[in-house]
Amino acid sequence: MTSAPTAPGAVTVRVPAKVNLELLVGPVRDDGYHDLSTVYQAVSLYDEVTVAPADAWGVSVSGALADGVPTDGDNLALRAARFLARRCDADPVHVSIRKGIPVAGGMAGGSADAAATLVALDQLWELDLERDELESVAAQLGSDVPFLVAGGTAMGSGRGELLAPVLARGTYHWVLALADGGLSTPAVYAECDRLRAGADVPAPVATPALMAALRTGDPHELAPQLTNDLQDAALSLRPDLAEVLSAGMEYGALGGIVSGSGPTIAFLVDGSEAGIDLAVALTASGVVRDVRRATGPVHGAQVLHHRVD
Ligand code: ATP
Repeated sequence: MTSAPTAPGAVTVRVPAKVNLELLVGPVRDDGYHDLSTVYQAVSLYDEVTVAPADAWGVSVSGALADGVPTDGDNLALRAARFLARRCDADPVHVSIRKGIPVAGGMAGGSADAAATLVALDQLWELDLERDELESVAAQLGSDVPFLVAGGTAMGSGRGELLAPVLARGTYHWVLALADGGLSTPAVYAECDRLRAGADVPAPVATPALMAALRTGDPHELAPQLTNDLQDAALSLRPDLAEVLSAGMEYGALGGIVSGSGPTIAFLVDGSEAGIDLAVALTASGVVRDVRRATGPVHGAQVLHHRVD
């Protein structure tokens, strides 16, 4: 990697959230991670991340969903910035994050911010990283980070960081039911292991029926294929989510799943009007804290603007 020039200005990147259309969890590996087979879809809930040269490393977070995001060295965006800076000998930056992705919600908001930071610094520091190089740096920061750089619909294997393209037609409409509080991803995996203790867990293999459904572009075909092996564990830790799932189905969703490690629930609906109807019904029911509508697939982390001082 080349070393970074000291560049002026500020770069803003918009980055989406993800849902897992399929999340198959294999046995625990020797390194403590689980082998996964997953199909990610990037959906139109966004964080905006701005990086600008500064005298010292720092991060600030704003927006209605900013609660619970660390503003110290634990912030994944700041970690990503320092990691890349070490590799290319660059000066400090300040990272400003506007949160539109629920925190600890199973939608990979922290990973999204790390992905956005890499894309922003690539531009600010004029690194011109090849896509492979960017994805390999991303994989060292977290399992979901390469997908948030790439976006679209893609298959993930390994810990989720090894991406392969998936042929998906059409646009899907989602209603996301946000829950009070978050769920810790390690706690959900631990609960999954506890629930499956003693069971013979097979190696995870992507389901051909899901791939076939995605080729049709028909949400009615996709809905019955939505699968999440972490769902039982998330429901075991948050039994109230079962009520949200059944309310969504009762009010007309084609399908519903816990998103990743939860507690956000993703409902697939039959178009934009159906999404409005479901969002209104869920809000009126009082079983959810808040709802968001989104479509997918959308692009991964993208530069919105580069201000050159
Ligand atoms: P995943 O699905 O990737 O496991 P998640 O979507 O459930 O994660 P995140 O929003 O990524 O959860 O947050 C997980 C934890 O990471 C939070 O509790 C928070 O303390 C920490 N965190 C660090 N940096 C960030 C960030 N930039 N945005 C959100 N959370 C962050």
